[in-house]
Amino acid sequence: MDESKSSEGGIRLRSRLAVFEHITEENKPKKRKFGSSRYNDSDDSSPSESELVIDETPTVVKKKHKKKPSIKISEEVLNLKCEWISCDSIFKSWIELNDHLLNHAGANSGTMCLWTNCNTDCKTVPFLMQHVSYHGYLTKLKNIGSNVLTRESLPECKHEKSEKIILRKEGYMCEWEYCMLNFYNVCEFYMHMEMHVNANPREANEKKNEIILCDWAGCKLKFATKYKLAEHLRTHTHEKVMACPTCGTLFANRTKFVDHRKRQLSEHLQSYQCSQCLKLFPTERLLREHTRSHINHYKCQMCNMTCATPSRLAEHIRFRHLDMKPYKCDQCDKAFKTKYNLATHIKTHGEDAESCEFCSYKCRSKVGMQSHYKKKHDQSAPIFECHTCKKKLKRGQFLTKHLMKIHNYHWPSGHSRFR
Ligand SMILES: [Zn+2]
Ligand SMILES: [Zn+2]
Ligand SMILES: [Zn+2]
Ligand SMILES: [Zn+2]
Ligand SMILES: [Zn+2]
Ligand SMILES: [Zn+2]
Ligand SMILES: [Zn+2]
Ligand SMILES: [Zn+2]
Repeated sequence: MDESKSSEGGIRLRSRLAVFEHITEENKPKKRKFGSSRYNDSDDSSPSESELVIDETPTVVKKKHKKKPSIKISEEVLNLKCEWISCDSIFKSWIELNDHLLNHAGANSGTMCLWTNCNTDCKTVPFLMQHVSYHGYLTKLKNIGSNVLTRESLPECKHEKSEKIILRKEGYMCEWEYCMLNFYNVCEFYMHMEMHVNANPREANEKKNEIILCDWAGCKLKFATKYKLAEHLRTHTHEKVMACPTCGTLFANRTKFVDHRKRQLSEHLQSYQCSQCLKLFPTERLLREHTRSHINHYKCQMCNMTCATPSRLAEHIRFRHLDMKPYKCDQCDKAFKTKYNLATHIKTHGEDAESCEFCSYKCRSKVGMQSHYKKKHDQSAPIFECHTCKKKLKRGQFLTKHLMKIHNYHWPSGHSRFR
């Protein structure tokens, strides 16, 4: 499993340029709304990605079969190329590229972005600076995506290239308690958030009363390690960790990127098939995720209840919406809406309510006892002998009747039967 490749141990941030370590995401980002629609904070909702986003399931992590050690995002080797017109500079760190791009913007004679194939008029120099900084962010994310592709062979991406540069009129606000600094470009903001994360110990040591806390306004969630905090903090900041170099879609973790490519494997190579709808999937995990969509499929027409199977739905309808009682007790005349209720009721009759008078056999119903008697005792020789006339009778109750009828015996109190 992909998730198994990330482990907590022995990680050290190599430079200030390292981005957040962990590549799985716990929560989807909460969206915030801003006044102006043009500057909406929509960097996590590009349509091409939201269709592809799937929830991670931390419960199905398999620890076996570690094929290769994972490469931490912070350990990715970067080769960041500036695509500003007639500039071919290459940088080994995001901060260096960012500083370089801000220089391009500041030295520019107008407010037009001269990044290859961009040609956007940013109207003001501050917006141009924010804009070019975002080009740098996308360059870094695509670089990491390319690195992943060189390490593992994944299917080609056939989606059309679409890169959105998202401007934030109000800048990027750090909502960490007592911080509330505002940043004008995306690189400085995410580097600053990394500083908040790195102010924590690697692991929370309970003996030393250490806690790792998300101090983002209104959050206060606790984490076992600072990497978990970093991963979580991205749900507040909407930071992504890699992009598909082909189509430009951004991803919050490596698994989502790998899935994005694997879903594009040609159908005849996809070997996991859903037994219910015959749809094909490239991996077992994606099939399992899909299978969950079939669960809770049967919906009650009379209320909002959904059930996993038709028989559960039938039982729900009977129980909630009809006054039918199809489950009848064979020991009394009560009836019940569900099998379960009948079973509960039968227990009130007492366990093994019937016991055989000829052997140690016990059972719960009269019907069961009658069939037991017929099988085991009906053919046996008569064992009850009348002491008066020596007549032999098969059963005790026949002798009782015989004594009363023939010999005029009376029913004595305190005894159920003569012997
Ligand atoms: Zn340049
Ligand atoms: Zn541009
Ligand atoms: Zn801050
Ligand atoms: Zn938080
Ligand atoms: Zn793609
Ligand atoms: Zn299916
Ligand atoms: Zn219902
Ligand atoms: Zn009963």
